[in-house]
Amino acid sequence: MSHQYGPDYVRALAPYQAGKPIAEVAREFGLDEANIVKLASNENPFGMPESSQRAMAKAAADLGRYPDANAFELKQVLSKRYDVPSDWITLGNGSNDILEIAAKAFVQKGESIVYSQYSFAVYALATQGIGARAIVTPAVDYGHDLDAMAEAIEADTRLVFIANPNNPTGTFLSADKIEAFLEKVPPHVIVVLDEAYNEFLSAENQYESTAWVRKYPNLIVSRTLSKAYGLAGLRVGFAIAQPVPTDLMNRVRQPFNVNSLAQAAAIAALDDREFLEKSAKNNAEGYRRFVQAFEELGLQYVPSYGNFVLVKVGDDDQAGARVNLALLKQGVIVRPVGNYGLPQWLRVSIGLPHENERFIEALRKALG
Ligand code: PMP
Repeated sequence: MSHQYGPDYVRALAPYQAGKPIAEVAREFGLDEANIVKLASNENPFGMPESSQRAMAKAAADLGRYPDANAFELKQVLSKRYDVPSDWITLGNGSNDILEIAAKAFVQKGESIVYSQYSFAVYALATQGIGARAIVTPAVDYGHDLDAMAEAIEADTRLVFIANPNNPTGTFLSADKIEAFLEKVPPHVIVVLDEAYNEFLSAENQYESTAWVRKYPNLIVSRTLSKAYGLAGLRVGFAIAQPVPTDLMNRVRQPFNVNSLAQAAAIAALDDREFLEKSAKNNAEGYRRFVQAFEELGLQYVPSYGNFVLVKVGDDDQAGARVNLALLKQGVIVRPVGNYGLPQWLRVSIGLPHENERFIEALRKALG
């Protein structure tokens, strides 16, 4: 009999399913990479800002040295932007890293973490990866039920994950709902408010979560430069929290978790207001186009506040996989979400206008 390596909770992990790379689809379906449209990973369709490219090229001259483990300059920029001292900031190799760092810093094996059904897949991975117990509350209208989440907190609960907006469903929780939740959560329970898509919110939906951090010592706000800032490939995320939780997170993170190129690019991107505005505007327009197309095609969709939309492409449990394959054959990559328990749905990232049209046309054909 072969030996079983590792703890049972690691063996039970289901690996994260990433969006298919363009090169892989080109190989598998015999397509030309240049004709493939990827709307599968909620990336910024403009790619990386030019300001970041320039900063990175400069930083590339000195890659023989380790990065600044404390990322002094990047923290200065974030500190000014969010009006918090540097010792309220934790950097991550993407915000995915922040989620894992939080689980590792605040939860022991056997203790519990609360998150919602249909919420971001990494919450389950971060929970299981440390042998913690998941308490998953049922979603309401594909979004978080914050009342149920508050009630689900048990004596051994140490952490709650909330995504706002949520991925893959795109649902949004208003500021008053979140604040009411924060009031209810016992102060010894850490709340990670994951705002990966925050920059896509319209002005009337924006709220000051970083100001809540001053009021709630158990709140950690998580953000990323992968989406609106266009740096997904470089991996930069950050958390804002009071000094005590921030200190603990910084103890368990890898000392050099954000590399030199990523630090330089992030500093430039955070300053590039024009790029951010262009991205948000393109996203709002693309969203309206998707909604119009789904309504024409008679497809149900979940109103989205992110840079993607969840759309129902059939009533049987093979629908998502079937339509996904039909789209792949036409060179359009989207994200099937059967692993989320949503086998009748597909998640589509909002792209550039011509990419959105390619998807809509391919979807029309796929649905026959
Ligand atoms: N949170 C949510 C809700 C996300 O959708 C994602 C990206 N899929 C992340 C966090 C992590 O993104 P990153 O590690 O690139 O910052």
